[in-house]
Amino acid sequence: MMWAQEAKPGRRWVGRLPFQGDLLESLEAFAAAKGVDAGWVNVIGAVKKAVIGFYDQKKKQYDHLEFNQELEIVSCVGNVSIRQGRPAAHLHITLGDSRGHLYGGHLVRGTVVFAGEFYLQELLGLQLQRGFDQETGLPLWEKHIGST
Ligand code: ZN
Repeated sequence: MMWAQEAKPGRRWVGRLPFQGDLLESLEAFAAAKGVDAGWVNVIGAVKKAVIGFYDQKKKQYDHLEFNQELEIVSCVGNVSIRQGRPAAHLHITLGDSRGHLYGGHLVRGTVVFAGEFYLQELLGLQLQRGFDQETGLPLWEKHIGST
């Protein structure tokens, strides 16, 4: 079932991620510190190492890929919403190596920032809460009363 909520733009931030910080955790900590319950995120930069996930739709679990090498963050895009009462970031990342080859997937903890520039757009007037989705086995957004 398709549904959506209308969002209004809130605050916006542009900033740098900490050297050797965890990419996902740094963004989640920033969102929590600013009280962002919903938002959209973009990041570019580089990482010292990366861990990405691929969701196996039959097994309903993530397989993880680890890259112990320096890589460019060609693109990293995602959102912030509430999961288990706290702001949680869901990000997908495209990483490039020294030959321009690309890897990509669902960003998980363990990705270490070398340099990172982020943009966070807060979204207001909606309720984005994650809960267990039976069909997919994923923690997806739950339909809210105000949705159309
Ligand atoms: Zn994902």
